[in-house]
Amino acid sequence: MEIIFLGTSSGTPTKTRNVSGLAIRKSNAKAWCMVDCGEGSQHRILEKNLTLKNLQSIFITHIHGDHCYGLPGVLASAAMAGRTEPLWLYGPKKIQSFVEGMIESTELWLGYDIYFVDVEAPIESTPILDFEIEVIELSHRVPSFAYAFTEKNRVQKLNVKKLKEDQIPSGPSWGQLQKGMDITLENGCLVHAKDYLLASDEPRKIIIGGDNDRPDLLTDAARNAHVLVHEATYTQEVLEKIGEGPQHSSAKRVAEFSEKNQLANLVLTHFSPRYADKKCSGQSIDDIENEAKEYFSGNLILANDLDCYELKKDGLFIRKSDLRD
Ligand SMILES: [Zn+2]
Ligand SMILES: [Zn+2]
Repeated sequence: MEIIFLGTSSGTPTKTRNVSGLAIRKSNAKAWCMVDCGEGSQHRILEKNLTLKNLQSIFITHIHGDHCYGLPGVLASAAMAGRTEPLWLYGPKKIQSFVEGMIESTELWLGYDIYFVDVEAPIESTPILDFEIEVIELSHRVPSFAYAFTEKNRVQKLNVKKLKEDQIPSGPSWGQLQKGMDITLENGCLVHAKDYLLASDEPRKIIIGGDNDRPDLLTDAARNAHVLVHEATYTQEVLEKIGEGPQHSSAKRVAEFSEKNQLANLVLTHFSPRYADKKCSGQSIDDIENEAKEYFSGNLILANDLDCYELKKDGLFIRKSDLRD
């Protein structure tokens, strides 16, 4: 599984960080999903090998502008690129009225259908996606949600040693067994697939959070997750100065939660524009990083725009080449 950061700033963009947006897909797949779509996301998409034609679904965490003002541009550009396939748009119910109002008032002709999925109501299965989707309600000034992506349709491995020992002839029959189909051999013997499939690894799971001041709401979802991407808008000191009103998390709060729940990989994002990228005289991203490191001993990453990370089959989470492909 891969994630690509399209925007990592909160509220407003900076010269180096756009507002929220993220791409997630199976490693090297063409089809991809987007989580949040801040203004200017389509410019970031152009810098990566992502196309609006191959965009399967968009997941909006909440209605705040830094997470959804990019939708008009992305939807219109997809139409101009000749998209005809339907697009699934997950989000709180106000996303639908926002998008429909925009389409009507700007007389936008899409040429493809948008299927809205209101995540404030229980959602049904997600058959079109490469992932199982879990929606977790968070705590913010407006309804806000996290989306957990768990891989599905993984190819199971065959126990080749046992197949050879039992003299099951190789060829198409092995392929059928691998797909879980029982087969009948030429001698009339019935062979059960379950006897020759190896126990599969735990499916990979990545949680992408929306704005949230209570990471503990992700406790259940985090139990079998490999990666948590969560906002850390401020350091604890700044959060205390501002007060709880904006309902964001500090680096300390997310790091403590991740340590307690033994998460292997924590990615922080959605940084207040007050934090400069490089340490000068004022506050910088280093302050967020240093604070998180104090409380979290796992693999800590601070997201940057256009960074791409891969979650390998063995659970290793690594940064892919910096090439702007
Ligand atoms: Zn935000
Ligand atoms: Zn917000």
